[in-house]
Amino acid sequence: MILMLNGFMEKLLAGKWIAGPTVDDAIARGERFKKIGIGAIFNYLGEALTNNNDIEEATNVYLDIIGKINAGDEKCQISIKPTQIGMSLDVDAAKQNLEKIVNKANEKNIFTWIDMEESEFIDKTIDLYRSQISKGNVGLCVQSYLRRTLKDVEDLSKEGGIFRLVKGAYTEDEKIAFKTKEEINKNFEDILIFMFQNTKNFMVASHDELMVEKAIKLSEEYKKEVWYAMLNGIRNQYLIDLQNRGKAAFSYIPFGKKWIQYSVRRMQESGHMSLLMKSMIHGQKV
Ligand SMILES: Cc1cc2nc3c(=O)[nH]c(=O)nc-3n(C[C@H](O)[C@H](O)[C@H](O)COP(=O)(O)OP(=O)(O)OC[C@H]3O[C@@H](n4cnc5c(N)ncnc54)[C@H](O)[C@@H]3O)c2cc1C
Repeated sequence: MILMLNGFMEKLLAGKWIAGPTVDDAIARGERFKKIGIGAIFNYLGEALTNNNDIEEATNVYLDIIGKINAGDEKCQISIKPTQIGMSLDVDAAKQNLEKIVNKANEKNIFTWIDMEESEFIDKTIDLYRSQISKGNVGLCVQSYLRRTLKDVEDLSKEGGIFRLVKGAYTEDEKIAFKTKEEINKNFEDILIFMFQNTKNFMVASHDELMVEKAIKLSEEYKKEVWYAMLNGIRNQYLIDLQNRGKAAFSYIPFGKKWIQYSVRRMQESGHMSLLMKSMIHGQKV
């Protein structure tokens, strides 16, 4: 029974949020978005890897997908979790794996993102980012629920940092994190303003109309176009609307077999069942 339920949930979520188990599934889902002008950010599922074979496999999957993207395709980006390329075990090994991926991506002019995970990894993740920041075609995800983020962004922007701004997906202590939606949104806005004033390009990654529309208003005020991104299958129609309004829109497309942790985070965020069902019914229009 549990196995059947597992299979059913996998099918349901794989169809709505996750492209499928393979690199080819990811590319195919990306093509569907690209046909309507929306870019794809490919993320191979998996985190907190501590087995060297798994870490090598994850690194190779990124090399493989980069190999399958056309050189210079600005509509395709990749996004990597530091703990899937070895950061929980050894930062230096993770740096080497990241360097291999970034070098291959740069040969083809493909943009690489570094995801941000739980707060215990932030210093190491920033260290990892600094090891590649001068290559230019690499960006870092930053989370507005953390009290430290504006300062991190201020520091890294002096070194040419490129950022993807999100609210944050993990459970963090109130000593280091804002807890109310109002505080998290206020910090999101403060960071947005800093980025419009002090950085060249960045990505606004949110499904929250309040934040997205605020960013669009600021973009008009500062006469600066930025990227917008949403997770595949959550608010695809809104993403299409942004694209139709002339914004550079991207869908973050997870693929691979390790779908459980990712899906649990999305279910927790949907807050209540009606939102989850809404994303199930309306999320997948592409
Ligand atoms: C492209 C992208 C990359 C990301 N990368 C990272 C990362 O590297 N690290 C990290 O910590 N987090 C990451 N996140 C997740 C992010 O931190 C949030 O957890 C997530 O986006 C929900 O926050 P929100 O900004 O959409 O606003 P919320 O306030 O959570 O949601 C606003 C509204 O969006 C809709 N909505 C949101 N989620 C759902 C859902 N699951 N189902 C249905 N409707 C929903 C609802 O209408 C909701 O009221 C990423 C998000 C995106 C879009």
